[in-house]
Amino acid sequence: MNSTIETSAVEAREAQVVATIELPDGEPYDVTVADLVRMLDKAELSEDGQHVVWTGAKTADGYGTVHMGGHTMYVHRITYQFVNGPIPEGLLLDHRCRIRHCCSAACLEPVTNAENILRGESPSAINARKTHCKNGHAFNLENTRSCTSSGRSRRVCLACEQSRNAARYLQAA
Ligand SMILES: [Zn+2]
Ligand SMILES: [Zn+2]
Repeated sequence: MNSTIETSAVEAREAQVVATIELPDGEPYDVTVADLVRMLDKAELSEDGQHVVWTGAKTADGYGTVHMGGHTMYVHRITYQFVNGPIPEGLLLDHRCRIRHCCSAACLEPVTNAENILRGESPSAINARKTHCKNGHAFNLENTRSCTSSGRSRRVCLACEQSRNAARYLQAA
C-alpha cells in the first residue's frame, strides 16, 4: 500500500461534511468529520449515562465552547443543530437538565428569552419557581401579592406580612 494514497483517503474522509450549522454571525458553516472528531474528544457521557458533558473550554458561567469556522461557539448550539437542524428564529436553547456544560441534544429545548430567564438559575428565577414562602405558606392567588422594588418584582406572602404587621403593632402598643 502506498502511504500517500492512504493519507489522502483519510483526508478526504475527514473533509466530509456531516452537518451545516449557523455561526454566531448568521453565516452557514459546514461541520466536517474532522470537526466532529475534535469535538467528540472533549465530550464524555455522564456517570448516569443521561448527559453528554463537555470537558473542554467553558465560559465563565459554565457553558462549553469550541472554536469553529473562526468563531467561538457554544457547544450545545452545535450539537442541537446536528440533531434538529436550525435553531428556530429568535429562540434560545434551554438546558432542561440545568447542567450548563451538558451538550446532549436530548437535554436542549428552544425557548423564548422570557421562558429561559424563568427557568434559569438567577435569584428571580429560583424565587419564581418556589411554591411556598420561607415559612411554608403556599404562594397561591389568595395568599400572594406582587411587590416591585428597584425595578424587580417579587412575591410577598400575605400570611407572613400580616404576622409581621401584627408584631409591629404589638411592639408599638
Ligand atoms: Zn443534560
Ligand atoms: Zn409566609
